[in-house]
Amino acid sequence: MKISEKLGHKQTFSFEIFPPRGEMPREAAFGVASEMAHDKPDWISVTYSAGGSGNSANTAPIAGSVERDLGITALAHLTCLGSTCADVDAYVSELVASGVQNVLALRGDRAPGREAIDFEHASDLIAHLREVSPELCIGAACYPEGHVESPTEDESYESLYKKQEAGADYLVSQLFFDNEDFYRFREKCLRHRVKLPIVAGVMPFTSVKQIQRMAFTCGASIPAKVVKRLVLAGDDPAAQAAAGIEYACEQLRDLAANGVDGLHVYSMNKPAIAHTAHDALVECGYLEA
Ligand code: FAD
Repeated sequence: MKISEKLGHKQTFSFEIFPPRGEMPREAAFGVASEMAHDKPDWISVTYSAGGSGNSANTAPIAGSVERDLGITALAHLTCLGSTCADVDAYVSELVASGVQNVLALRGDRAPGREAIDFEHASDLIAHLREVSPELCIGAACYPEGHVESPTEDESYESLYKKQEAGADYLVSQLFFDNEDFYRFREKCLRHRVKLPIVAGVMPFTSVKQIQRMAFTCGASIPAKVVKRLVLAGDDPAAQAAAGIEYACEQLRDLAANGVDGLHVYSMNKPAIAHTAHDALVECGYLEA
């Protein structure tokens, strides 16, 4: 089913998984998705070579398995830097053949050797997909604190408007640790004529090291309230991870109470984290038990 149709009639709940790196078998990711499927998410998204991991060949087969074998809607990510139109068309054919109708159209991070060929920006990819594969439902990324490369705040909204005009159906946000950033962003989108549904992305952090890496790669700021919890957790890895999931559940409950279009959990291939987030949303009435 198309994600735009789900967003049209309910507040959604979804998880993200990433394909295995290197020699790890695809079945490992499929096992993760199977466990997450017990919580009946509206969709499971499958990343595409995120962070230059080089695992993009696994995205379509895993998304196809989620759709076919688990009966859960799959959202296959796709980045376009370094790709030609023919590369994109071949990937989309593979998705469509395996029953996947939903694509998250992204530019991808800049990396040495990964230059633009046929696509400079995500909006170019969206326009191409809209033209050659009108049957696809197309999502796009958005950034409550602005994209790290955007020189001005206005430029950030201008590029979201371009994604909307190119044919995106909805937006999924980058992770953020202060919900006020998301609420401000949502309001400003409307002022900048960006009217697409916005799914809020929340990542339960698992360690100090990981949250620091996220802050640098995604440009997400770490509020003092998060730092305080991590200071309290001290050097204990289990206490740091517990602080992360507890904080994420608070974020999710607050977002649920503030009328979001959807909630997406960056569950990092950890079904236990996904399940805890699910239970927090059942408890507050966002999800049915
Ligand atoms: P764009 O929309 O092209 O934006 C990139 C920059 O260019 C921004 O600063 C924007 O303001 C600017 N820009 C856009 N259009 C124009 C224009 N017409 N003129 C001038 N400037 C413009 N990466 C992966 O590698 N794999 C994944 O699976 C993946 N999944 C993601 C999922 C989500 C929900 C999010 C939020 C990000 C994901 N990323 C992933 C990271 C993403 O690839 C990076 O954030 C990337 O740097 C930008 O992607 P974009 O699609 O937002 O690019």
